Amino acid sequence: MDTTKSDQLYEKALQLMPGGVNSPVRAFHSVGRSPLIMKKASGCRIIDEDDNEYIDYVGSWGPLILGHSHPEVVQAICECAQEGTSFGATCSKEIEMAELICDAFPSIEKVRMVNSGTEATMSAIRLARAFTGRNKIIKFEGCYHGHADAFLIKAGSGMLTAGSQLSPGVPSAITGETILCRYNDLESVEEAFRQSGADIAAIIVEPVAGNMGLIPGTREFLVGLRELCNNYGCLLIFDEVITGFRLCYGGVQNITGIVPDLTTLGKIIGGGLPVGAYGGKKEIMDLVAPQGEVYQAGTLSGNPLAMAAGLATLKILRDTDWYDRMEVISYFLTGKIRSLFEARGMYYVIKRLGSMFCVFFTEDEVYDYESAMKCDTQKYARFYREVLQEGIYLPPAQFEVSFVSCAHELEDIYQTVAAIERALDRMK
Ligand code: PMP
Repeated sequence: MDTTKSDQLYEKALQLMPGGVNSPVRAFHSVGRSPLIMKKASGCRIIDEDDNEYIDYVGSWGPLILGHSHPEVVQAICECAQEGTSFGATCSKEIEMAELICDAFPSIEKVRMVNSGTEATMSAIRLARAFTGRNKIIKFEGCYHGHADAFLIKAGSGMLTAGSQLSPGVPSAITGETILCRYNDLESVEEAFRQSGADIAAIIVEPVAGNMGLIPGTREFLVGLRELCNNYGCLLIFDEVITGFRLCYGGVQNITGIVPDLTTLGKIIGGGLPVGAYGGKKEIMDLVAPQGEVYQAGTLSGNPLAMAAGLATLKILRDTDWYDRMEVISYFLTGKIRSLFEARGMYYVIKRLGSMFCVFFTEDEVYDYESAMKCDTQKYARFYREVLQEGIYLPPAQFEVSFVSCAHELEDIYQTVAAIERALDRMK
């Protein structure tokens, strides 16, 4: 595989951008090769600057559930752009988006659009603090909620990959208000409430964790969190930035029936353009300015292009049976990968939920941060490089999730399986 152009561009990027990238995991550091610089993409295929083509299981880290450049999404963006790219005033698409989100999520009675998942979670905890008059929040080791100060402590995603537990530049006065608990370990949360129950404003949790690899929250764990929040008068925030509209037309809350007070969204609702949202019960959301006094604003919030792309995406998901099809395709793909590992006597854990999956190289069960940390990241790096060589683009870091999209056809899956087989044969 020739990556001369990517390598040259990366050299230049290194002179101009920190680490040569605008977001850390794009640097491919943990998989031991220089990053690919991408040129274009369509459907489930992505092409780099050297014209190498890959079957893409990153999907821009989740938003592209319909695949790249879906014709209806592209058309919606183009038509919208002809009529103005930003008004700095409300447009009808924002209201339509709010209506779709509120219809899909029974727990969301009112919603505020923002520009990223980070803005959504940052604003949600500000609101929870104002609503409860308390300062502390509970977050879980290995969960990632964006890069706002309060969350940069034992966070997942790029921070987990980099092995850092704290970020310089974050005042301890802020992280001092964040209580860390263990994912899928209710006892650790009960202990936190026993010690500081009266000061806790909210629990924020990925109900299916997608930032330490894929680790679903158990039903017992999530039900327990809901009960503890009820008992102690604090808010439960489901961070569904990844899972919103990924597993069903709605979120994990629609599947489990466990209802949070606030929900954060991003990724899919922007159809590949920058977006985020937070919403929940009216009585809580009405504290947000200008109705209430909790200040939160955004020059480009509710941007018409992002709304157009998001609306086109959501309407396709609402009006088709794509979730069922993605379930079948993903089940088939992960089943085949399992067989390849089994046939070679390899140790592995594959986690899958709907169109999300993750391969860990470990002999033990993976259910939280510590067990995820025990897996063999060197082996993942080798696996990653060999599979990439065969034209398969997986997330360039162990602690991330692979996504199947509506654009992955059975033929693409056969090609993927054959490619992985060749890659594994080289790994022997
Ligand atoms: N929450 C979760 C669960 C996420 O996975 C992410 C990003 N991957 C964020 C929040 C932050 O979103 P963004 O990168 O858009 O700021």
